[in-house]
Amino acid sequence: MNFNFYLFDLDGTLLNLGDIGAYVDQILKETFTKLEASNPPNKDEKYKLWSSEEDFFDVLREWGVKNPHNFWKVYDEIDFNWRKELIEKKKIFLYKDVYNILKKIHHHKNNKKLALISNAAYYIVDFILEKFNITSFFHERFSLGYYINDQELAKPSPKGILKILDKFQYDPSKSKAILVGDSKYDIIAAKKANIYACLIRREIYTSNKNHKKWEIQPDFVIGGLNELLYL
Ligand SMILES: [Mg+2]
Repeated sequence: MNFNFYLFDLDGTLLNLGDIGAYVDQILKETFTKLEASNPPNKDEKYKLWSSEEDFFDVLREWGVKNPHNFWKVYDEIDFNWRKELIEKKKIFLYKDVYNILKKIHHHKNNKKLALISNAAYYIVDFILEKFNITSFFHERFSLGYYINDQELAKPSPKGILKILDKFQYDPSKSKAILVGDSKYDIIAAKKANIYACLIRREIYTSNKNHKKWEIQPDFVIGGLNELLYL
């Protein structure tokens, strides 16, 4: 356990949502229906949204969303309602190794710090952490939805990571930080922030199947959180 700062993504890394691509597709579909968009994206196009950063309003307008400023608010509300329902049905749950590994890192004698870096809305993240009893393990968390335009801070932007590292007074000459995430966007964000990037492949989904072809490569690839203890 050579790192001083452990940063974790939530969905697909700590939280099992099944096939995240399919889950997100369903929410997108319902969001577009609610916003009465005339031209919702097809499967290939929608990936533009997640990598658009500052340009996402243009992407949404292109797809016929008349009031793109409302988009994430509507999306987050649908996401939140679904999660609550699916958690009750036990279709969304924490991966088995999460509680113990977070506890181990949190109680490590070398005073390691943990943070959560999520692209989900803050109230969803808060709800999930409380629901699964892991709130106290995290010294800091970064999530979205505090103001209407903050999607630009979402990974693959490194801004959230940098903000948290700043709070930790991270000094790369004295300590090491790692981000663990299940998607390409986690890896890009970590490398842009100049920290170690660890890809976790819980299961092989379309989103991580071709990870060896990604332009920006992770420093580590693991199959479960246990392996983190040996890095
Ligand atoms: Mg994820």
